[in-house]
Amino acid sequence: MNEIQQTPVVELAETPVTELVETSGHTSGAEWLARYSTSLMGVFGTPQRVLVRGAGCLVWDADGKEYLDLLGGIAVNALGHANPFVTSVISSQLATLGHVSNFFTSPTQIALAEKLLALAHAPAGSKVFFANSGTEAVEAAFKLARRNSTGPSGSPRTKIIALEGAFHGRTMGALALTAKEAYRAPFEPLPGGVVHIPFGDVAALEAAIDETVAAVFLEPIQGEAGVRPLPAGYLKAAREATTNAGALLILDEVQTGIGRTGKWFASEDAGIVPDAITLAKGLGGGFPIGALVTFGEQTSSLLGAGQHGSTFGGNPVATAAALATLHAIESQRVLENVAKVGEYLRAGLADVHGVTEVRGEGLLIGFDLDADVAPAVVTAGLDAGFIVNSPGPRTIRLAPPLVLTTEQAGTFLAALPALLQTAKDAQ
Ligand SMILES: *Cc1c(COP(=O)(O)O)cnc(C)c1O
Repeated sequence: MNEIQQTPVVELAETPVTELVETSGHTSGAEWLARYSTSLMGVFGTPQRVLVRGAGCLVWDADGKEYLDLLGGIAVNALGHANPFVTSVISSQLATLGHVSNFFTSPTQIALAEKLLALAHAPAGSKVFFANSGTEAVEAAFKLARRNSTGPSGSPRTKIIALEGAFHGRTMGALALTAKEAYRAPFEPLPGGVVHIPFGDVAALEAAIDETVAAVFLEPIQGEAGVRPLPAGYLKAAREATTNAGALLILDEVQTGIGRTGKWFASEDAGIVPDAITLAKGLGGGFPIGALVTFGEQTSSLLGAGQHGSTFGGNPVATAAALATLHAIESQRVLENVAKVGEYLRAGLADVHGVTEVRGEGLLIGFDLDADVAPAVVTAGLDAGFIVNSPGPRTIRLAPPLVLTTEQAGTFLAALPALLQTAKDAQ
């Protein structure tokens, strides 16, 4: 056999990534953004800052400015940035076996599926499908719904129900479930049969459900719509109506799941067993992963061999990241912290002059202002070193790392009156 000279990979492995992106000197935030605008597609507009480093609930931008991250990458960085435990687990898995394809499996994938089923108190026969994002978890659920295709008299189930204000993702199936016209209209025709009914209205739901309905998709709290919780009793009524009609009840917990509300799942106190739950955002502690959990044997066998798939889904590194995240949340009593700091934040926000309503649970919080200045509050917040988000013209959303401390939350409460004033002065 011929001797082939191999590149010395060890030498390359020790190159820090900064040397791959900055070959000479220091690049400022403005310089990075100029390069961004010539090389990245414009779907996100201009990014607010160029972030280079994080630690816990803090991040730093390319110009060295520090921020308290009260958005957590939109409810993703459950344990904050650069969590040493999660980092070490991801690194050790990546250094052992990084990817295998779904012709094979790996211990982390199996262990994570078992863990999620246990946390969800899923009955025997329940199963998990792994994806890489929220929208992919929803796509899998959409296909599951399509497989619930015939009613009792052999009639076809052609309809899927979702709510006004719903956000379920951006790929075509998930987009069909998403309500916002501006997101949908440019891409029609979308997969058919989806009907949007008024939010939180039990009578409207009962009127819309019959044996032509394959599934109902619900977010326990609508995150993108400004943190709107479903009214008490709605999930129970939805369970009853879907069971009676033979439709699936699918809960999109991509934003609300994995401790965000101070519970593992926002729906866990509703006293119902859904047919499926979608998960993503916080699941990997910042590493991309999504999951569809199906409840019970019948629903779990709707998608058969060859009917769905993913090259990356459930890969060893992503599932190791999720195992690490779940372990840290459990062993560090993070859910208690979420409940405590969330309570403190909501009480403090309600006392701020100019805040008219505070909504949400745990560390998924939305609050309304007495004027349409939310985008200006986001800008004022950045200048003052706080990252928040405005899902609407007078609504601010907070979804910080679940490890946010009361002291950190307090610095934002103390700064907020001045941020509101700055925003109003800028109008
Ligand atoms: C964010 C979100 C999605 C989409 O997740 P991506 O990872 O952005 O594709 C779907 N459903 C809900 C409820 C979400 O909040």
